[in-house]
Amino acid sequence: MKLQDKLLQLKAGRKAILAANFYNFETLSGIMQAATNLKTPLILQLSESSIRYMGLPVAVAMVKAAIREFRVEAWLHLDHGSSVSMVSKCLDEGFDSVMIDASEKSLEENIEITSQVVEIAAGYHANVEAELGFVPKLGQKYKDNEFTRPEDARKFVESTGINALAVAIGSAHGFYKQAPKLDIELLARISQTVPSPLVLHGSSGIPDTMLIEAIENGICKINLATETKNVFMLALKERLRNNDEIDLRIVFPYATKAVINLIEKKLKTINKIR
Ligand SMILES: [Zn+2]
Repeated sequence: MKLQDKLLQLKAGRKAILAANFYNFETLSGIMQAATNLKTPLILQLSESSIRYMGLPVAVAMVKAAIREFRVEAWLHLDHGSSVSMVSKCLDEGFDSVMIDASEKSLEENIEITSQVVEIAAGYHANVEAELGFVPKLGQKYKDNEFTRPEDARKFVESTGINALAVAIGSAHGFYKQAPKLDIELLARISQTVPSPLVLHGSSGIPDTMLIEAIENGICKINLATETKNVFMLALKERLRNNDEIDLRIVFPYATKAVINLIEKKLKTINKIR
């Protein structure tokens, strides 16, 4: 099934899918093991910095092999694509889905760049996600009027033809210094105004009850990145404390296990598994 069809199916059923970023073999393996254990579909995401770290062909080959090997229903998605050329490269390498993020530009420019991506992606039958409103990146804060406005969202989706819309409703990338608060009422209005499935960025640290409320009010894709890096590194540091082990194949599985536990927990929440 194409991801765009899966997302529409989820929207109709008021359900959501986890979209997990991975950074190396270990995090990919942990995420896939969790999805296998719970038999749930999921989206695997690569950011541009992870692509630079692993190299595009290697990262893609690793994902494709993992999907075959683990027999999980999964799709490969580009997270926060910054340019039309980057999106094109990823589509050429076989991505199922791409995000073009021109959310820091004006509405008109965002529409123009996003429309170009939709046209290119159509040639690959790929899913396209874009962002309207502005979800703060690491180290940034919300400024005034940066939440997604329902009428703008409708105009944006209709003019561009995107499959999924990332909305700014109070979440932020990275960890939260204060308890996060999502504007669920605004989310519900966007969901009623816009036909496309909605995406929540910055879910790390958002309480489960709030995630469930977001899903019930129109969120179909939940992006998770920061928490995965965090549990991986914490487990690694713990394992290496007063320990001279040099065999990374003995050390890394502890960190991978922490990823499995985290992703299983998130999958259970998002897929309502008890
Ligand atoms: Zn994001």
